[in-house]
Amino acid sequence: MSMIEGRIVKALSGYYYVQTEEGLVTCRARGKFRLDGTSPLVGDRVRLELSRDKTGSVREILPRRNWFIRPAVANIDRMVMVAAAVNPITDPFLIDRVSALAAFHDCDFLLCVNKTDMDPGDRLFEIYRASGIPVLRTSAETGEGMEELRGLLSGQTCAFTGNSGVGKTSILNRLDPTLMLRTGEVSESLGRGRHTTRHVELFALPFGGYIADTPGFGSFDVEQMESIRPAQLQHCFPEFAPRLGRCRFADCTHRKEPGCAVRGALEAGEIQPSRYDSYVRLWEQANRIKDWERKE
Ligand code: GDP
Ligand code: ZN
Repeated sequence: MSMIEGRIVKALSGYYYVQTEEGLVTCRARGKFRLDGTSPLVGDRVRLELSRDKTGSVREILPRRNWFIRPAVANIDRMVMVAAAVNPITDPFLIDRVSALAAFHDCDFLLCVNKTDMDPGDRLFEIYRASGIPVLRTSAETGEGMEELRGLLSGQTCAFTGNSGVGKTSILNRLDPTLMLRTGEVSESLGRGRHTTRHVELFALPFGGYIADTPGFGSFDVEQMESIRPAQLQHCFPEFAPRLGRCRFADCTHRKEPGCAVRGALEAGEIQPSRYDSYVRLWEQANRIKDWERKE
């Protein structure tokens, strides 16, 4: 018996598959994996006991950067949101909602304004560039932005999200043609329409790093806004940061209060109106949720 460290890259039918220096180790997901009430998730870095027959058993979950419920995955470094200014047009509110959620989970964010061969997406691009949010113009058609994207994803664990039809599959295909093949095989072996099973997998990227995905389903589920409290939202808009603590009232919600530094920045043209509007909309939504209704 020896103790080694590794990372859970797949959970399927009662087994965890852990990538270690010794190769891929299979661990049975038994009750005793529930250490201090926490179950190991795909993406977890773990310490495991390796037995002579090269199977393992998870002994310890190393500290997580973050974790998500649907899909159940831990340690996502970057959320990549794909948007488009044409066919379909992405609503900036959706982008702001996902980027706020990423910030809440201490996850880096990247916006890809895709289909630039059809529409350069200037308006979207400018809103996010001016807000200090990483944004890239991409085209799965011409390959624009693919080198930068590879550079940003290299060595990280990322998750892709965005409306259906914006080009997630096409971008991933362009980044790594074997990726779709691999995810396709998995969804085939699981059978169609069974993506609701708890299957999550980290797929290795050829340039280093992983992409987390639920096979056959191209988008990371980000319907988890209910966990953010109204007062936490202001910290999920990075461009608000230099203004926080400068409002007249310490508990300013930055909506209608006099002497609000965030509104001041908005009026001075230093905060994008659509970003501010999204903040107010998300604040009002969050404010309607009672604490006992929150998921975390
Ligand atoms: P997904 O639902 O987000 O995975 O989107 P897909 O990758 O399936 O793409 C939807 C459609 O948009 C397909 O017909 C693609 O060929 C097309 N598409 C994707 N990216 C681009 C792009 O950058 N430029 C153009 N012109 N079409 C694209
Ligand atoms: Zn304020």
